[in-house]
Amino acid sequence: MTHHLVIYPGSFDPITFGHLDIIARGRKLFDELVVAIGRNPGKDQIFTPDERVEMVTRLVDELLEREPDGASVRVESFSGLTVDFARRRGATALLRGVRNTFDLQYEVQQALTNREVAGLETAFIVAGQSFAYTSSSLIKQITAMAEDLDILASMVPPLVIERLAQKKREGSPLLDRLRNNHDPESE
Ligand code: ADP
Repeated sequence: MTHHLVIYPGSFDPITFGHLDIIARGRKLFDELVVAIGRNPGKDQIFTPDERVEMVTRLVDELLEREPDGASVRVESFSGLTVDFARRRGATALLRGVRNTFDLQYEVQQALTNREVAGLETAFIVAGQSFAYTSSSLIKQITAMAEDLDILASMVPPLVIERLAQKKREGSPLLDRLRNNHDPESE
């Protein structure tokens, strides 16, 4: 019988409850799921690829402990094209989450391209209702502006809040930029 492996690619900067929900539901549809964390040097990121892999691995381990039934999940980072990574891993399909029609418009374009250039299918899972407004970029923006990061508690696990607070304490060029762009006194 064919072993259906699905790759869930993304930046996961940082991972949110929305991502974890897609992983939990994706596990019920395939035999194996690989969370593929992109190393995209062109993209503004708050966490290094190693930090993201470590956080995602810990949270996925907790998920598997809580919900032992379902496909196994591996966490890896990759650079280069997602389709090349997927081909090397022998993936059946890519998995993507869709929150709204804006996501859908972008994702359909990507999916068509990936099928055209690499014959790779994409499976979509619609976001859980309570996570449909959660995005990693919103979380970074709130981190830059908020005094108390506990307001993120409905969007990301406590581990992520801790790590974001650490970045804030240590200083982060990305957080500085996000804060300055929204500071009316700096305009
Ligand atoms: P990328 O930079 O590839 O968009 P992201 O980490 O932002 O990486 O997202 C990875 C995937 O997870 C995308 O398919 C995105 O639509 C999906 N996703 C992000 N946030 C959520 C959420 N809150 N609920 C469901 N899917 C989500």
